Amino acid sequence: MTLTFQRHLEPLSWGRAHRGPQSLAQPPSVTALKAWAEQNTGPRLGRGLGRAYGDSGLFGRGRLIDMTGLDRFCSFDATTGLVRAQAGLSLDALLQVTAPQGWFVSVTPGTRFVTLGGAIANDVHGKNHTRAGTFGRAVRALTLLRSDRGLVEVTPASDPDLFAATVGGMGLTGLILDVTLQLEPIASTDLEVETLPLGDLGDFFDLNADSLGGFEQTVAWIDCTRRGAKLGLGVYTRANWAASGPLAAHEVGPRLTLPVETPGVLINRFTLAGFNRVYRAAQLSRPRQARAPYAQVFYPLDAVGGWNKLYGPAGFYQYQCVIPQDAGRAGIADLLAEIARSGEGSPLVVLKTFGDLPSPGLLSFPRPGYSLALDFRNRGPATLDLLARLDRIVDACGGALYPAKDGRMPRHMFELSFPHLERFWASRDPACGSDFLTRLGI
Ligand SMILES: Cc1cc2nc3c(=O)[nH]c(=O)nc-3n(C[C@H](O)[C@H](O)[C@H](O)COP(=O)(O)OP(=O)(O)OC[C@H]3O[C@@H](n4cnc5c(N)ncnc54)[C@H](O)[C@@H]3O)c2cc1C
Repeated sequence: MTLTFQRHLEPLSWGRAHRGPQSLAQPPSVTALKAWAEQNTGPRLGRGLGRAYGDSGLFGRGRLIDMTGLDRFCSFDATTGLVRAQAGLSLDALLQVTAPQGWFVSVTPGTRFVTLGGAIANDVHGKNHTRAGTFGRAVRALTLLRSDRGLVEVTPASDPDLFAATVGGMGLTGLILDVTLQLEPIASTDLEVETLPLGDLGDFFDLNADSLGGFEQTVAWIDCTRRGAKLGLGVYTRANWAASGPLAAHEVGPRLTLPVETPGVLINRFTLAGFNRVYRAAQLSRPRQARAPYAQVFYPLDAVGGWNKLYGPAGFYQYQCVIPQDAGRAGIADLLAEIARSGEGSPLVVLKTFGDLPSPGLLSFPRPGYSLALDFRNRGPATLDLLARLDRIVDACGGALYPAKDGRMPRHMFELSFPHLERFWASRDPACGSDFLTRLGI
């Protein structure tokens, strides 16, 4: 059996800053994929819904295997919350079925348009890291298709090294075919949400310290154009699952879709400052306490389809770093000051807290500290220079960068960010690679 690979010239990563041809096929069944893999040992990389921002999900020198056709539920026990599904199933499709039955993923990223395979490969985190850690902690088993060993069933007990390398392993340990996942019970699909003003960065640290004990979900939006006494001005949101109420599936599909690429110049220091003022005022004009369905709380960006085209034809880079707890105040302040000075940045700047629940993956990004994430329109060398300046701050603080969001980190930052790389390489599938590794010369 053969797979038909198509050559794609349009950007396939979420940030759209990486171009260059990619060869991609979507296997219609596991049988077809296995048959292809038996005859082909060449370079490959699994692909989910393409929500990784940079080049870690691309592989111009190899073949991309689009796993989204392998998206079947295998089993779901609504009494225990244990679900087994093919890795191409999206969180969107999973939650449509399980949420109305009172089961939710323990950890969700800021979009539901990711696959289970992609969520594992980047060991994704949510707004509840201090309570639940990363997605990989709920994975009980998975099946890999490797170029050197064929099908391998992996659990944390059966092959701890391969499990730890696969969780957060950027698809480099083989194709993930299916996943067994423990879901968490919810009494309602609504959350009780509080929205509070932040006057400056000090407010964030005070409010955060008060909130982590009593709230499962915490996150701050920061206006990255503010400096001096207003540095860190923003909005703090904290939420808990409601103790009772409706159990309802979310709306299907975005409410609005951006039909075309906009000229990137629309995002500049003036429009950004104006937008941020309006956005903050709108957030704070809502009642301080409110009940909201989970899609509104977790996935506000999913309401606008194709929002990544807002940054124009050259695309954008996302920058996400974590600064260790003890260096947090000074490090986040330095990053925000540098960004504000540059006049670059994005309307969406997110500051989250990572707790000390250990991540199960050798290359998992979360570790105790504060994580700042924001987008930068790709303005070429000026943007790359700014990101290099941010790297220096992260490096000086002993922090780390997130490869799922990256498209340009230098090799030394990757090596500084992941101290277990040597152990990880021992479990790599020899046929798997990515543009990220190629760029780093690995
Ligand atoms: C709006 C938005 C919000 C986000 N919020 C968060 C967040 O809060 N926290 C967070 O951690 N991340 C976040 N992300 C990033 C996103 O969760 C991750 O990049 C995730 O891995 C994307 O999954 P995907 O299915 O789109 O996979 P892709 O982007 O297609 O691939 C991602 C990685 O997974 C690998 N992969 C995918 N499927 C398989 C498979 N079956 N077998 C082997 N390897 C595979 C790929 O090789 C690649 O390395 C966000 C992204 C967006 C666009």
